[in-house]
Amino acid sequence: MIERFGHDKIRLVECPVCGRDLRDKKVSFHVESHTPTDFGLSPKGVIQ
Ligand SMILES: [Zn+2]
Repeated sequence: MIERFGHDKIRLVECPVCGRDLRDKKVSFHVESHTPTDFGLSPKGVIQ
């Protein structure tokens, strides 16, 4: 799900919610199509 570039650079290559390949897409734009609860977050963005 995550590719590593160097020792501290990581990048989502697959949406953790719907599994869509994000390598050729703007990840932040796609992620905004989901709600925080899709990622297992509370509405305040805290990991449960
Ligand atoms: Zn998605």
